[in-house]
Amino acid sequence: MLDHRIGDGPDQSTLLLERPAPKHLDRHHWHVDPGSHTQRPLSTFWMTSATLNSRDSMTDVVKGGPTADVVVAGGGIAGTAIASELARRGARVVLIERRGLAAGATSAAAGVISLASKTPGQLARLARASLPLFPALIAEVPLDVALRRVGSLFVYETGEERSAVLDRVAALKADGIELELLPVAAARRLQPLLGDGFLGAAHAPQDSIVDSAALTRGLAQLAAGRGAEIAVGEEVTGVIRRGGRLESVVTDRRAISCRWLVNAAGPWSGQLGRRLGRSHPVVPRRGQLVALAPMAEASAVRVATARGIFAKQAGSQAGWFSGPALTPALDGRLVLGGSNEDAGFASGVDPAVVATIALRACRLFPSLAGASVVGAWSGLRPHSLTGAPILGADPELPGYVVATGQGGDGIAIAPAIGRFIAELICGGRPDLTVEEFLSGARSDDGAP
Ligand SMILES: Cc1cc2nc3c(=O)[nH]c(=O)nc-3n(C[C@H](O)[C@H](O)[C@H](O)COP(=O)(O)OP(=O)(O)OC[C@H]3O[C@@H](n4cnc5c(N)ncnc54)[C@H](O)[C@@H]3O)c2cc1C
Repeated sequence: MLDHRIGDGPDQSTLLLERPAPKHLDRHHWHVDPGSHTQRPLSTFWMTSATLNSRDSMTDVVKGGPTADVVVAGGGIAGTAIASELARRGARVVLIERRGLAAGATSAAAGVISLASKTPGQLARLARASLPLFPALIAEVPLDVALRRVGSLFVYETGEERSAVLDRVAALKADGIELELLPVAAARRLQPLLGDGFLGAAHAPQDSIVDSAALTRGLAQLAAGRGAEIAVGEEVTGVIRRGGRLESVVTDRRAISCRWLVNAAGPWSGQLGRRLGRSHPVVPRRGQLVALAPMAEASAVRVATARGIFAKQAGSQAGWFSGPALTPALDGRLVLGGSNEDAGFASGVDPAVVATIALRACRLFPSLAGASVVGAWSGLRPHSLTGAPILGADPELPGYVVATGQGGDGIAIAPAIGRFIAELICGGRPDLTVEEFLSGARSDDGAP
């Protein structure tokens, strides 16, 4: 059940129509191989070109318009995971994406499936439940999607951090996540780029990395193969309610008669919620990443700092720096991260932030000094002000479901989100909670 609702919904039978917001770029890539971000030809999908004829009244359009069981707003990893799960269960699905598949946070992500960076409890268990679903989904999608188990190290630099890490390791182990404590020498054997400016590390051998943009495109194709309509270049702008319940979803082209709308609009989910008269505690948080040329001495093991993880979870009080983190990408580049900024919807790369990330990284990884920067980009995380993802049906607007607020964890938990929302809708259980869903997880692979 969705817990976070502010403000009243619109009156019954209200048509909420707004002009689409101006399009803006949310992500910039500098000197990055464009081939890694190309979209599949849109002709592979069942595209729609329906337009709302100004002479028709909206009621006529709704009567004669397309029908679906579920409209999913947002073609990122969350929306496509949800659409493919719904379609697997036989629902008639229309996925509406206003810019391009994986055009939002999903393609900016480093693609890390990290279990050990999760807050113990529900978030960690969502990640644990998702882990075995990645290879299963990748086997199903009609695209090659790279997935590699690489392992992560979380280094601590002070005695105080060490005690916090010990507590966290114990809590995460209770959530079914594998972790071991390593001395400095053993950690450096796993990632030879590490210097000696740390006291020890926790090693998470299950952590993996995936091509999240390719997986998203693959999930959209999987959904399309199961009969879903994937409409790219179209924007959800409102809903029509009747008798207190959602009756139709309105886009900038048409109205779609349906029973459910899933808001999977990522950092823009708050904007979409406001268009429906709903308020969700989610805001954009900018993350900037810097890519360095591959280095022969680097291993594939990811490294983050315990300090960075705790800072990210503390939110804006801890300042914008939540790094440094080093992710050896699937193509061999070394991706440095560490920004978690309150910058509204501002996009782009700030050279001062990039320089800080690079300098701080060089303290932990001295051999990076002199490495060539080959790219930098930014993206917006859908940050939850409650500290937890916002997942569930909205009892104030029956038929409206929210899947947002995943912050920097939205790749790692996407498969479980897809299953949870599909179970809630297709299982006829709008009051299903994440806890109930997770407690149904099978013990063999953690996947409900
Ligand atoms: C720099 C960076 C690094 C990250 N690294 C990782 C990582 O390593 N591991 C990890 O687990 N997570 C990571 N994340 C977080 C992860 O990327 C996000 O949590 C996740 O991608 C969110 O997916 P989403 O589908 O909800 O949102 P998005 O991918 O943003 O998709 C939302 C989509 O909705 C569309 N949309 C918006 N409004 C409308 C509308 N009205 N109608 C139709 N469509 C609409 C947008 O165009 C967009 O395509 C990172 C994020 C950033 C920014």
